[in-house]
Amino acid sequence: MPIDFKLTDFCYPVSILKLRNFLEKSQWFSLQELEAYQFKKLKIMLNHVYENVPYYQKLFAAGGITPKDITSLGDLKKIPVLDKNIFNVSRDLFFAKNAGKFKPIGYNTTGTSSAPVMFYRDRFARTLEIAYYLRHWSWGGYKIGSPIGEISCWFFLKKKKNTNKPFYYDPVVRRLIINGNLLSEQNLDLIINEIKKRRIVFFRGPATAIYAFSLLLRNKPHHSISLKAVFPVGEMLLDYQRKLIEKSFSCQVFDSYGNMEGTGAISQCEKGGYHINSDYGIIEIKDLRLPGLGPCSSGYTGLAIGTNLYNFAMPLLRYSHDDIISASPNAGTCPCKRGLPIIKSVQGRLSDVIVTPDGRYISSLSEVFNFVNGITLGQIIQEEASRLVVKISKSADFGQDNEKKLLEMISNIVGRSVNVRVEYIPFAELTTYPRSKFRPVISYVKKEYGMSIKD
Ligand SMILES: [Zn+2]
Repeated sequence: MPIDFKLTDFCYPVSILKLRNFLEKSQWFSLQELEAYQFKKLKIMLNHVYENVPYYQKLFAAGGITPKDITSLGDLKKIPVLDKNIFNVSRDLFFAKNAGKFKPIGYNTTGTSSAPVMFYRDRFARTLEIAYYLRHWSWGGYKIGSPIGEISCWFFLKKKKNTNKPFYYDPVVRRLIINGNLLSEQNLDLIINEIKKRRIVFFRGPATAIYAFSLLLRNKPHHSISLKAVFPVGEMLLDYQRKLIEKSFSCQVFDSYGNMEGTGAISQCEKGGYHINSDYGIIEIKDLRLPGLGPCSSGYTGLAIGTNLYNFAMPLLRYSHDDIISASPNAGTCPCKRGLPIIKSVQGRLSDVIVTPDGRYISSLSEVFNFVNGITLGQIIQEEASRLVVKISKSADFGQDNEKKLLEMISNIVGRSVNVRVEYIPFAELTTYPRSKFRPVISYVKKEYGMSIKD
């Protein structure tokens, strides 16, 4: 999940603008130029971790590696893939001995200050995050100072005095933050009026929260909110969500993918291409050769492995994101002509992959919801290898035929030995707090194959 910006993130406006200017140019670099840039940054990072980061000092010593042994990007493979579980149990060892000089700030996944810190980002990483978003938003026409709207839950939970406010407006940065926990019919007119009053033309937020807002707007066909671009973050954007969001706001959706640890970023351009931001971090796609049906059966699909190029306080090298990416079978160039390489799609997390009793790995099973009418939101939960529960929030036009079609499609994919049950629950319950963490597929079945991947 990407992080929410903090006020302190904007403390270095000159650095942000300088990096923003560089990123403006580097997006047009050739592949060779991008790789040369990555390698230059990687060398600096390798020397840093070798001198200052206990985990890598031990790892390099054990493997007899020094930064001098890495003479190309390809040599990065000499460093073992860092499993999320290893990072989770030994976080302290990743904190650089000289982190203080990089002005680190602690983050956690809940956004509340009382929860334990999960990760540290330093001044450079925070500057990069803002500059990267400014560039991505510019693909949708955003210019610094343009009024932007945002849906957030954490912002309002962090300060008690804000909890019951439906929105907050910051006139300095022209940012309207809408309370994701108070999106309701009751508050809708108030929110619509504020969006118009503040002349908001861009919008960002968790995909499901923006989708929930679009659903509410469906009941107000004459709301007349017309935006220039919407930027969902933090979770996989499903096709039916994109369609409704685009219709609701009469504009294009620019999807993006990232993680809190800042080891990689993928963002969608105005031509629809998903670009790896090579000037942000290094993303490798580790081929799993996943068998099975669904989108994973075609093209080159694998686990995303990311390397920080900017975060010196808590650097991660070859960090397994737990996300599955499909590379484009015919890579080529995007029609937008940017040099940043393109992929086909982000498929979702490895932990969200359904593993069938006959050993197949099926990603993106939630795609079935795109083929059945009347589903407002759906979620598939694999409780055991042979038991799936499909939770559906349905609209009025969903009937028995639709359920039959849905069950048939799922059974055809997962096999008849899997028991599939449908449960109907209201939308609000399906997207219960925290809304920003909605996952279309959840599997509780351990995946030995995926977890045992090593170089
Ligand atoms: Zn493009």
